[in-house]
Amino acid sequence: MRITFLLIIVSFLWACKTDPPSTTTSKALVKVPRFDSNLALEKVQRQLDFGPRVIGTATHDDCKDWIAATMKSYGWIVEEQDFSAEVYTGESIPATNVIAKLNPEAQPRLLLAAHYDTRHIAEKDADQSRYNEPIPGADDGASGVAVLMTLAKIISENPIEIGVDMVFFDAEDYGNPNEDDPESWAIGSVHWAKNVSKSYKPKYAILLDMVGSKNARFGYEQYSMAVAPDLMKKVWKLAQDMGYGNYFINENTGGVHDDHISVINHAGIPMIDIINKTPQGTFGAYHHTHQDDINIIDKRTMKAVGQVMLAVIYNTQNGRF
Ligand SMILES: [Zn+2]
Repeated sequence: MRITFLLIIVSFLWACKTDPPSTTTSKALVKVPRFDSNLALEKVQRQLDFGPRVIGTATHDDCKDWIAATMKSYGWIVEEQDFSAEVYTGESIPATNVIAKLNPEAQPRLLLAAHYDTRHIAEKDADQSRYNEPIPGADDGASGVAVLMTLAKIISENPIEIGVDMVFFDAEDYGNPNEDDPESWAIGSVHWAKNVSKSYKPKYAILLDMVGSKNARFGYEQYSMAVAPDLMKKVWKLAQDMGYGNYFINENTGGVHDDHISVINHAGIPMIDIINKTPQGTFGAYHHTHQDDINIIDKRTMKAVGQVMLAVIYNTQNGRF
């Protein structure tokens, strides 16, 4: 059912696809800045210092406030989109997507996103006595946010004329561990996608999730390839041309029910997911365990992802991507 539904959307998107005339060809070429992986690493640590960012907790709200305030300090327009997350336990938990915009009237626009909440349990941990303790979420949560915020600072210091939107999704990781219940995940992105303007059509939409661990492998995630194969192959080719072919690998890694599914299904935007998976389609051994802490983070991985995102952004500005 899910795949069939996606294929219908694919046909729709292809049918509607029109490339707007380029408005960037007459502009001066802008150099692609360097990504600051030390800053990204600091931003991972800063999130871990708050403690687990589980929805409905004070540490979560502290982190949300920090993301919003920091993005404002970088010159971005920030909106907090509050909603009630109806989770699988039957509870209603207050949650908030943080939406940040740069050059809000400009076209074309790029959409970049990551989730900032962290998992409330450690269902995969070898020590099941700690099952009910929330995980640190260094890679699963903090790494994507850290890369986005570092990009936000660099873009503000190296101005562009295109528009960029960043969404820090909430309530991605409060899904049901016990059964096949995909709708219990990615709740915040469903709320965002159902409420975004129907006229909002970013040129590219890219989700970052688990983009900071040692020896990460980013393959072709199945749903991303179903809706945006051209974008995915273009990003991977760019990454490989930049020398990051050890991270961005031409391999199919199966599908993930991540925030991009919400954006595809509810907003009709063909978003791709850059996510660390093994060739067998599994996540890293640290996933949803207490080992997802700063020790599994490698700033070289964030450098690869961040530098590729800067190349996408500035080459879009330059009319070259
Ligand atoms: Zn997770």
